[in-house]
Amino acid sequence: MMAAVIAARNGNGVTLIEKNEKLGKKLYVTGKGRCNVTNACDTEHLFQNIVSNAKFLYSSFTSFTNHDVIHFFEELHCPLKTERGERVFPVSDKSSDIIKALSLECSRLNVTVLLSTEVEQLIIKNHSCLGVVVQQKKGVFPLKELFADAVILSTGGLSYPSTGSTGDGYRFAGEAGLAVTEPFPALVPLETEEDDPVKMQGLTLKNIEVSFWSETDGKKHSFYRGFGEMIFTHFGVSGPVIMSGSSYCSGYLRKGKVRLTIDLKPALTEEELERRIIKDFEEMKNALFKNALFKLLPKVMVPVMVERSRIDPDKKVNMVTKEERRYLLRCIKAFSLNIKNTRGFSEAVITKGGVKVNEINPSTMESKKIKNLYFAGEVLDLDALTGGYNLQIAWSTGYLAGSSV
Ligand SMILES: Cc1cc2nc3c(=O)[nH]c(=O)nc-3n(C[C@H](O)[C@H](O)[C@H](O)COP(=O)(O)OP(=O)(O)OC[C@H]3O[C@@H](n4cnc5c(N)ncnc54)[C@H](O)[C@@H]3O)c2cc1C
Repeated sequence: MMAAVIAARNGNGVTLIEKNEKLGKKLYVTGKGRCNVTNACDTEHLFQNIVSNAKFLYSSFTSFTNHDVIHFFEELHCPLKTERGERVFPVSDKSSDIIKALSLECSRLNVTVLLSTEVEQLIIKNHSCLGVVVQQKKGVFPLKELFADAVILSTGGLSYPSTGSTGDGYRFAGEAGLAVTEPFPALVPLETEEDDPVKMQGLTLKNIEVSFWSETDGKKHSFYRGFGEMIFTHFGVSGPVIMSGSSYCSGYLRKGKVRLTIDLKPALTEEELERRIIKDFEEMKNALFKNALFKLLPKVMVPVMVERSRIDPDKKVNMVTKEERRYLLRCIKAFSLNIKNTRGFSEAVITKGGVKVNEINPSTMESKKIKNLYFAGEVLDLDALTGGYNLQIAWSTGYLAGSSV
């Protein structure tokens, strides 16, 4: 939609082809229905939040910045507000207002919008894209060829396929001879080998610190650290800090083991935590160990921690040895889980991977191999953390593609 608006503003006759019965189904579900349009941070921060191929975005992010995005929507009478973490939302808290602003601008600019129309194939001759083959309402009408001076492919990724992103663009790019990096679910919950999360499902932990570790060839290294909130589920772990870590997981999961450690008390050093445990134990010296952790940990976590500590649950607290206490301390500072897998695309906020960026000219978004074929958005091998950055990628690359045609 952004690419269509910008191409039309530059005087082109534009046809926007959408296989759904309405525009912006994915946009509608963004930001829990509120659409986190972009992030009002500075440029450095913007790039820091891009997980894959940040350098490729240099031209598009400078051509159409996050502040340009804010200006763009406000000019279309969709006022925005900035919330915690510089996240930008419509004042109305309605993602539908973002869709409305774009749709109205498309109709003001006489963009022809073909709904319930699916692109089946690109028309490519002599390394040049001449148009697309479409089918209106699957199976009902015959295939039709639509010719154009340029085609912008912005079919999205594979996540939340019910919104229309079913990976068609990867197939089109592949058929055109462009390389596609294998797509993986990202910003996605994670499945664990252990069933401890099941025992604690529904428990939210706030202000915890997570570290993700990879173990390949016997070597261990941390590839992501984050602070924030998480939740235990019936399959493993989820929540903001887990979803962020998940964006870095897929490659490591293929190569070897991925381990998650959770520091349940990041505000306390080991010494401080030890003093705290000693104090608690002194106050309850005649209590059984299994009843002595309720002041320190959420109720539902206590039986899990008692089991992990390897301390006899029926032992009196004053009989717990120093070694046992130290081991308990380590379990609290590094509650550890083995990550088995990510959840699937239907639960993933975004897709990692896609059309290889070295196939694309970063200053125009045109394919280097196929003339007049442009790309924008999540179909490309670009992804970012949560906070409005993924839509910023879509707006900026869409803007650049729309102005380049
Ligand atoms: C639940 C959820 C919440 C999110 N929240 C946020 C957020 O708050 N902020 C943020 O920055 N990002 C968010 N994202 C990510 C963001 O929505 C995407 O990165 C962004 O929408 C990608 O834009 P796009 O235009 O490239 O692809 P999409 O938005 O997926 O649009 C692609 C369109 O192409 C159409 N299409 C596909 N194939 C064909 C075909 N063959 N023929 C015709 N049409 C076709 C699809 O129907 C679809 O409408 C969220 C994602 C999800 C799933």
